[in-house]
Amino acid sequence: MTSSVTIVSVFPGLLGTYGDAGNEMALVHRLRSRDVPVEVVRVEPGSPVPTSGDIYLLGGGEDRAQALAADLIGPALRRAVDAGATVFGVCAGFQILGETFSDSSRTTYPGLGLLDVVTEPLPHRAVGEAVVACALPGTSSVVGFENHRGGTRLGAGAEPFGRVVAGVGNALTPGTEGARSGRVLGTYLHGPVLALNPALADFLLQGVVSSLSPIDDALALRARAHRLASPHAH
Ligand code: GLN
Repeated sequence: MTSSVTIVSVFPGLLGTYGDAGNEMALVHRLRSRDVPVEVVRVEPGSPVPTSGDIYLLGGGEDRAQALAADLIGPALRRAVDAGATVFGVCAGFQILGETFSDSSRTTYPGLGLLDVVTEPLPHRAVGEAVVACALPGTSSVVGFENHRGGTRLGAGAEPFGRVVAGVGNALTPGTEGARSGRVLGTYLHGPVLALNPALADFLLQGVVSSLSPIDDALALRARAHRLASPHAH
C-alpha cells in the first residue's frame, strides 16, 4: 500500500476521443475527497511511459491512433504490471491490452499481451447504452455507453469483466463484456465509466489505498439511476 497514488494517463492525445479523460478525473476526485495525495502523469508519445505508476488509464481512440499507441507503449506497461500496477483500458484502450487487434480494413496489429483476448471487426458498429452485470467485489450493474466496430474473443486466460445485460459487449464471446486478468481490466464502456460507477472506481483504488472512507456519491448515483431507468438499459 502506498501513501501517495500515482495515476498514469497513457497517451490521452491519441486515446482521448471518447470522453474517457473523465476516468482520471473521477479517480482524482475520489482520492482528494479522502485526503489521499495523488499525482497525475499524462504521458504523450515521445516521452517514456513511466513504469512505477499505481494505476494506468487508457481510453478510447480511432483505429489509426490506437495502432500507433500500441506500437509506442512498448514494454513499459508490462513492467508496471509485473511490479503490481493496476491497468484500466476502455474500448481502444481495452483492445490494445489484448494479444492482437484488427481494424475495420482487417489489418492486424500486435497488442501488449496483457489480456488473453483478440479483437476483430464486427459486421456492424455497436453503439448505444450498455449495462453489464459485474462480479468484481463491491460492484453490481455497471452502466456506460459503447461505441465500437471491433468485437473481442476471450481466451482461456481471461475472465470477462462482466455479463451483458443490455448492449452488445464483446460479441465474439457472446454474452460477455470486457476482460480481466488480475489487476488488468478492459471494458468497452465509456461514460466516463468511472464517474458513473463509483463502486468500480473504488475497486480500482482498493488495490492501492488501504482503507477507503465513504464519500458523497449522490450526483454519481443519480446519474447511474437515470441510466438504469432508461428504456435502452433493459
Ligand atoms: N477503433 C476501435 C473500434 O472501433 C475503438 C473505438 C473506441 O475506442 N471507441 O473498435
